[in-house]
Amino acid sequence: MIILVDQDGPLADFEKGFLDAWRTQFPNEHFVPLHQRRTFYVRDDYPKELRDKVESIYFAPRFYLNLPPVNGSLEALKMLVELGHDVRICTSPLSRYENCVLEKYQWVEKHFDRDFTKRIVLSKDKTIIRGKLLIDDKPVIEGGETAEWEHILYDCSYNQEVGNKKRLTWANWKDVLVF
Ligand SMILES: [Mg+2]
Repeated sequence: MIILVDQDGPLADFEKGFLDAWRTQFPNEHFVPLHQRRTFYVRDDYPKELRDKVESIYFAPRFYLNLPPVNGSLEALKMLVELGHDVRICTSPLSRYENCVLEKYQWVEKHFDRDFTKRIVLSKDKTIIRGKLLIDDKPVIEGGETAEWEHILYDCSYNQEVGNKKRLTWANWKDVLVF
């Protein structure tokens, strides 16, 4: 079974990485605690006048490379591979890709190994990618095609309004994914 797993959200903890960097670099600015995040894009949860500062955090070199892994994610992916599934990391890079694309590869090599980078599928449109399941934290995934995969929501504070999809975390994935 082809299982597509999104990188930022389910695997790389973008939210924690962002907030830690934000608090370090702009300690006197307004911040949104992780459990109070309500929009998919972090920039939309911050006042417009802070937009440039917010973007400067994740456009910066080493931001993507240094994102911490989500608890349990590395173990779960390795287990899915051991179970015989064709696991692919399906990720949509920033349009300002300069640091992001390379560092997404480096992140996978750092936390798995170089061979695992062969599993990366980079696409701005995930609906054209084949697979049985896509585990992704984005509430709605749109694109040019009707996707063949079932979208399993990776459960986050900012996607709680979605009620019509299965959702999982790496703490309960064995109960949600019944093969
Ligand atoms: Mg994501």
